[in-house]
Amino acid sequence: QSQTMESQKQHPPVYSCEFFPPRTEQGVEKLRTTRERLARLNPAYFSVTFGAGGSTRDRTYETVTEIQRSGLEAAPHISCIGSTRESIRELLHGYREQGIRRIVALRGDMPSGTRDVGEFRYANELVAFIRAETGDHFHIEVACYPEFHPQARDAEADMDNFARKVEAGADAAITQYFFNADAYFHFVGQAEKRGVTLPIVPGIMPIINFTQLARFSDACGAEIPRWLRKRLEAYGDDKAAIQALGHEVVRDLCQRLLDGGAPGLHFYSMNQARPVERLWADLQLPR
Ligand code: FAD
Repeated sequence: QSQTMESQKQHPPVYSCEFFPPRTEQGVEKLRTTRERLARLNPAYFSVTFGAGGSTRDRTYETVTEIQRSGLEAAPHISCIGSTRESIRELLHGYREQGIRRIVALRGDMPSGTRDVGEFRYANELVAFIRAETGDHFHIEVACYPEFHPQARDAEADMDNFARKVEAGADAAITQYFFNADAYFHFVGQAEKRGVTLPIVPGIMPIINFTQLARFSDACGAEIPRWLRKRLEAYGDDKAAIQALGHEVVRDLCQRLLDGGAPGLHFYSMNQARPVERLWADLQLPR
């Protein structure tokens, strides 16, 4: 583990949090409170997701600009599937005018029932387009998958495709969440062998709601280890028990990752402050 993490240990650690754009006025209010609480932890940035096929385009934009106006760094996600070059160009220029400096560039998934894939097929094409349109203005984050993307032909092809995004101009990567630290260390080792040495920041999913987590994990190919799934399932509706075990498991995972040289952590907050605050405190992350 120690030899294969050398590339990562060179990068200063970056701690960040992710939000989704709320759908209701109540959700907007709740996110404001969450953001104010998490801002006290002084994360490097808050990223905001972008719904499939542009379905949250305006809400993402509004959430991002509100964060940025409050004096914190916001990083919009942009997913390109189903979009035209013109619409992505407009979005990039809009964000640049708002002072945004960081983008999470993704392919995204086609909304069910939609056929028109648009003018981009894969995220590497989006990264190349952002560089061609805006040069070095944006720091570009891309996604990667220690347990492999569900549509990848095989592990090697998935690594090749990750390397394509890096060659197209990505600055750093955030992983899909996982609960097995070895998957991350192995992935980083394989990336190093290919000469891919940019920061690969683990994406961390707090365990808040088991039913939702199981559904997400089945869809995105993140494995919940059998022992953990069985324990969480057995708690049924006992949310406090689920969250207590979830906190311990995720805290220990984060500690192993940091001890092994991970260059930071990116928390999928699910717009909730408490689980991230607890992890931040227990891990004694810098504020
Ligand atoms: P790509 O890198 O394009 O890869 C997609 C698949 O195609 C992979 O199987 C890859 O191996 C293969 N592939 C890539 N390039 C090629 C090529 N040139 N030729 C052949 N095959 C290729 N989704 C959203 O809708 N909104 C979000 O805000 C969002 N945020 C995310 C944030 C993070 C950190 C992560 C990890 C995921 C996020 N997702 C989001 C989910 C993501 O959009 C999906 O996982 C999507 O299926 C793949 O996106 P990608 O950018 O990784 O795609």
